[in-house]
Parts: sequence; structure tokens; C-alpha cells
Amino acid sequence: MSILYATIIFVKKHLSKFAIRYVTVLLVILFIILTVLAYSGYYYYNLLAAEMIRIRSDLASTTAEFQTKISDLQSNLAGAKSESATLSQALRAAEEKSGAFEKQIGAISNTVGTLEKLSQTDKELLQKYSRVYFLNEHYVPSNLIPIDAKYLYDPSKPLELHARVWPYLEKLLTAAAAERVTLQIASAYRSFGTQATLKSSYTVIYGAGSANQFSADQGYSEHQLGTTVDLTIRGTVPFTNFEKTAGYDWLTANAYKYGFVLSYPKGNTYYQFEPWHWRFVGLALAAKLQSDQTYFYDLNQRDVDKYLVTIFD
Ligand SMILES: [Zn+2]
Repeated sequence: MSILYATIIFVKKHLSKFAIRYVTVLLVILFIILTVLAYSGYYYYNLLAAEMIRIRSDLASTTAEFQTKISDLQSNLAGAKSESATLSQALRAAEEKSGAFEKQIGAISNTVGTLEKLSQTDKELLQKYSRVYFLNEHYVPSNLIPIDAKYLYDPSKPLELHARVWPYLEKLLTAAAAERVTLQIASAYRSFGTQATLKSSYTVIYGAGSANQFSADQGYSEHQLGTTVDLTIRGTVPFTNFEKTAGYDWLTANAYKYGFVLSYPKGNTYYQFEPWHWRFVGLALAAKLQSDQTYFYDLNQRDVDKYLVTIFD
């Protein structure tokens, strides 16, 4: 107010009365305008500040709401993820179980198949005979077939062989013939009765001691199985020096490929050396004996039996 008063004094000194009144009125009007402006400014400032506070608080509560929603969503997502992990774990476990189950079923059906095959395979076919095991006098192979006369040493005397062994023997004879080794069959299946007659005739001719060395007693002969043959080479007398013929050499090198093995090699403890006497034991066992350079009678019956199920494979 002192500035205003000094201004009034200054104006009174230098201006006319009319001008002073005019200026005073102007100043009053200016003062009123300024006061109104200041007041409204203050009023609007307060209004804006209140509005700002309200907006801020709204914003804060909205943000808090959003954060709650986000954290809810996050926890839901985590829950869903863990649920899905649990489910896929359960699925994997179920799959594993089913796989194991399938494997088990496969193994069982394999075993059943093997057992079925074994139950249908004649157990006598891989038995060790000759003073070791006695074959029942009533034993006759399940299916014997007559051998084509063209393969026989004496075509006038028909011979029979186990039907399932014949294809192997025929292949053997054909393969040998292809290498100019013409093998002939001198003896094949012999029944219990035939063997008894044969043995007694040998005993009459050679005496019991000699006959025992080269002819099995009835019931101990591999010939009763129908899987065994005595071979000879065309143009020679059977059982005479067969080991010195190309037939013996060929058989020693090749017979195993057709499942046949030499039962009584040189120096065996069962009989005299029988180079003509070949027994069918199946491809797998024959190959094993050939590669190990051992003989059928050297093996334990238990080891031999493992080959029974695959004898005709
Ligand atoms: Zn024989």
C-alpha cells in the first residue's frame, strides 16, 4: 500500500485533478480485475489439484486391481502348467506301463509259440542212443515216406525216411551229384524188429563180440528214428573203405550244410568208426558241431535239447 500511496502522491504532484480521478478509477478497476483473476486462479487451482488427487487415486486403485488380476492370471497359469505337467507325466507313465505290458505279452506269446512248437516236435529226434538211451520197441517215427528208388543203392529194396528229413537229404544228394559225387542210400529207417533180425544175423556171421562193435542192439539204433542213413558212393560196395572215397571227403566238408553229422567218428567210444552213417540233427546243431569240430555224442543231452525246437528250421 505504501507503493500505491507514493504513486498517488507522485501523481497528485504532476497530474491534473481530472487525470488523477481517471487514473484512480482505472487503478481501482485494474485492482478489482486482478483480485477476481487471482481468486478464480486460486479456485481453479484447488479444483485441478482435487481432480488430480482423485485421478491419481483412481489410477492407483486401477493399477492395484490390474496387478491383482495379473497375479491371479499368473497363478492360474502356473496351476494349469503344473496340472499339464502332472497329466503328461501320468500319460508317460501309462505309456511306459502299456509298452512294458505289450513286451510282456510278446514274450509270453513267443514262449507259448516255442512251447507249442516243442510239444509238436518228436523229442526222440535228438536223443543220444547207443548204450546211453533206450528207444521204446514200439517207437515208430510220426511220418515215414518211401525214398525215390533212383537214390537207392539197391532199387529193388525199398527204403523209408522221416518225411521232414527227406527234403534235407535230397538237397544233400543233389548238391553232391552237382560236384560229380554220386552218393547212394544203402540203409535208412530200420524198425525195432528189422534191427533185431539184422543184429542176430551179424551175430551168427561174425560172433557176438564183433557184431556188437558195428551193429547196434535193437532199441539203441539211430536208424529206428528214421532220420539216419548209411551212404555209399556209386560203383563201390557199401561199408567197404568208404572213408577212402570222394563221397566221405565231400560229406565231411559239406553234410553239415544240410543238417547231417557223422555219429561215430574215428576213435569214438560207442562203436567202430562208421564213415557211412550220417544222422540228421538240424542245420543249427550241425553247423555248431562243424565249427567246434566236436561230435554229437560229445555234447551233454541238455545242450543238445536246446536245438530240438529248431531242428526243422
Ligand atoms: Zn548206420
